[in-house]
Amino acid sequence: MKFEMTKYEGGWIEVIVGCMFSGKSEELIRRIKRAIIANQKAVVFKPKIDNRYDFNKVVSHNGISVEAIVINNSNEIRNYVNDYEVIGIDEAQFFDNELIDVVEELADNGKRVIIAGLDQDFRGEPFGIIPNLMAIADSVDKLHAICVICGAVATKSQRLINDKPASYNDPIILVGSKETYQPRCRKCFNKPIKSHTN
Ligand code: ZN
Repeated sequence: MKFEMTKYEGGWIEVIVGCMFSGKSEELIRRIKRAIIANQKAVVFKPKIDNRYDFNKVVSHNGISVEAIVINNSNEIRNYVNDYEVIGIDEAQFFDNELIDVVEELADNGKRVIIAGLDQDFRGEPFGIIPNLMAIADSVDKLHAICVICGAVATKSQRLINDKPASYNDPIILVGSKETYQPRCRKCFNKPIKSHTN
């Protein structure tokens, strides 16, 4: 990493973004574990929607993990954080707008806040509150994956439904179909086009 937080005073917000398989959760876990090694009290939150792996853990694709508190909305974070110096938030793209105020509040109270999330949705458009979090952050790291088609640097998350590229109006959360994601470069990304007929 080009930047490494070592000491913070007066609070600090850092944001880790990137496409799917860029190692965001892995980097969040790495920073949290390093804080714990330094005897800093750390806690991680994630939204209830994410149950890909273990319900009460943040797990990266390579299987490393830390314990996490699953919450329904960002306001709940306020109930848990008093005793902690370092606050991790994973899958931040799924949180409500309130998270922006919560995060500012935590940093203003002297805490280090580490946020990980997808910067773009499957359409290649800014994802939820992530752009706002990037704007208020003290530091931002954009991670990349490797394009599964051509091997170039990947910044896009290609969504496939039953092995075909998803179209623009497919719902963000889809139940009952076979859904997969691939990291792809801008050239290989099959950008869903907005329909102008309706
Ligand atoms: Zn490519």
